Amino acid sequence: MTRTAIITGSTSGIGLGIAEAYAAEGFNVMLNGFGDADEIEATRAALDAKASGSVGYNGADMTKPDQIADLVAQTEADMGQVDVLVNNAGIQFVSPIEEFPIEKWDAIIAINLSSAFHTIRAALPGMKDRGFGRIINVASAHGLVASPFKSAYVAAKHGIVGLTKTIALEAAQHGVTVNAVCPGYVLTPLVEGQLPATAKARGITEEEVKRDVLLAAQPTKEFVTTEQLGALCVFLASDAAASITGTSLPVDGGWTAQ
Ligand code: NAD
Repeated sequence: MTRTAIITGSTSGIGLGIAEAYAAEGFNVMLNGFGDADEIEATRAALDAKASGSVGYNGADMTKPDQIADLVAQTEADMGQVDVLVNNAGIQFVSPIEEFPIEKWDAIIAINLSSAFHTIRAALPGMKDRGFGRIINVASAHGLVASPFKSAYVAAKHGIVGLTKTIALEAAQHGVTVNAVCPGYVLTPLVEGQLPATAKARGITEEEVKRDVLLAAQPTKEFVTTEQLGALCVFLASDAAASITGTSLPVDGGWTAQ
């Protein structure tokens, strides 16, 4: 039987890497996220051509509960069922709390935390009925430790670690596992785009920005890769991972060991 995975926020970065990993394993994949419509269709078609399963796209806005419900319903209608749900969509904003814009707080809590409540609420009943499901929440090292000026992000990521444990307990006797994956720094297009400006502002090279600024907290001094995260998500979806539930797995080059 071909299994089906929804990956939210999979038009870019980590989510796209996870979608590629599931597609390569023969899963049906439902992509989601924002971006240029032609580029998204090109990404979907390329993945669909390579994969033995089918690859679809739904542009649900993760701040809109009704659109999130439609994402799950459309996937069930088009692909039969939702076996794997990866809650990955996320945004970031950095500011001292005194100046933190209220609308940025609301958006981060909605996209990085509440959207997972809505996707799980919609997808879990079918998983329980079939006696199989895998829910993977892409949290962050910031789900385990804090950094200053990231109040909304750290609150949302700690929140999703708590949601992970709670739903793991609720689903434990139904063949459904729920885990959080906690990456350190990943060199996604978003992070890459910040290198030239940071290098210029600090008068250092882009290599020094990576090593001394971004990777200051990461003992390996290596970025985590989207391929590593994709491989972990494929493993968590396997039968071999049936006893791994309620966990928050750091993939952070040693960051949170310190
Ligand atoms: P990214 O910006 O490359 O990708 C984010 C994705 O989310 C995109 O597909 C975007 O379109 C989508 N998205 C944003 N707002 C949305 C909305 N309202 N509705 C639907 N989709 C929306 O970022 P990334 O670095 O790949 O981050 C992905 C996840 O990984 C996030 O949850 C992030 O917090 C987490 N993370 C990233 C890093 C890192 O270093 N890059 C580290 C730890 C955790």
